[in-house]
Amino acid sequence: MRLDEFRPEGVPVGAKETLYLDVAPLPDGEMLRLAVLVARGQAEGPTLLVLGGVHGDEYEGPHAVRTVFRALAADQLRGTFIGVPVTNVPAFEAGTRSSPLDGLNLARVFPGSRDGTATERIAYQVGNHLIGRCDLLIDLHSSGTHAAMPTLVGYYAHDSEVGRRSRAAALAFGAPVVWGHPSVAPGRTVSEATARGIPWLYTECPGGGWLHQDTAALYARGVTNVMRQLEVLPGNPEREPPHYHLYGSGRIEDALAVRSSGFLLPAVQPLDRVRRGDLLGQVLGLAGEVQEELRATTDGVLIFMRTTPSVSPGDLAFMVTGEVVST
Ligand SMILES: [Zn+2]
Repeated sequence: MRLDEFRPEGVPVGAKETLYLDVAPLPDGEMLRLAVLVARGQAEGPTLLVLGGVHGDEYEGPHAVRTVFRALAADQLRGTFIGVPVTNVPAFEAGTRSSPLDGLNLARVFPGSRDGTATERIAYQVGNHLIGRCDLLIDLHSSGTHAAMPTLVGYYAHDSEVGRRSRAAALAFGAPVVWGHPSVAPGRTVSEATARGIPWLYTECPGGGWLHQDTAALYARGVTNVMRQLEVLPGNPEREPPHYHLYGSGRIEDALAVRSSGFLLPAVQPLDRVRRGDLLGQVLGLAGEVQEELRATTDGVLIFMRTTPSVSPGDLAFMVTGEVVST
């Protein structure tokens, strides 16, 4: 079946189905397919869409989506669960953030293009036929191979119904850090959801190019918590209040970039509280000479840092965000 022919109502009530849906023909003549996991409850209710693997080098999301689906009893559900463990399959196969087929980052090309490159077609189809059919989107990321972020859930901090639902779902998720964003940069799954009036949340975690199973378990529990909060599943969310409630732009391209080539030596770690002017890290030459110092341009909490020491001019190194004093 093609993804553009997929209808959740086509899955029998009370059933769980694994579908392989065609997205686009590949250069080698094979078909680019997404595995889509659907559980349809006995009773009517909201549709939750959970995406993993939008970036190909992030592994907690795919594992969590499969874990949640495996544990679901469709006869307990009210509404529909749709999970896509790996959304950018070519990038996953290559173990890279962007697709090897067209060099594109799936999280920057939404709303995509029906007749575009492979990544643009994935965006178009996922946007129109999955995101467009859901009542809440959860996009599970990690910080990838070269960076670290704390384990967090991000939401749309907006004075609107979409914003209120995003915030409530983020708090129900139960991550140690929640991060509200007053606006959304274009090209993302979450900007696609915003444009369609659909509430969303996304997650991040330390990354490093390997699977952190404890974080994947936290993600699975978080998705289950949101399903309870939406009353898709019975019971109350199992969560503790967040340790940090942060607020600011989630646009990582706004991070402080290095201006020289060399060895990046950090002076901070994620969730450190810093003051404007504090040293965040140095770029060292081959013999250890200091070529550059990176200093905080604002007070706040360190939310993102590059972890691969080898750097070139323009590489994003550190990002500081604001903190909400009372939640
Ligand atoms: Zn990602």
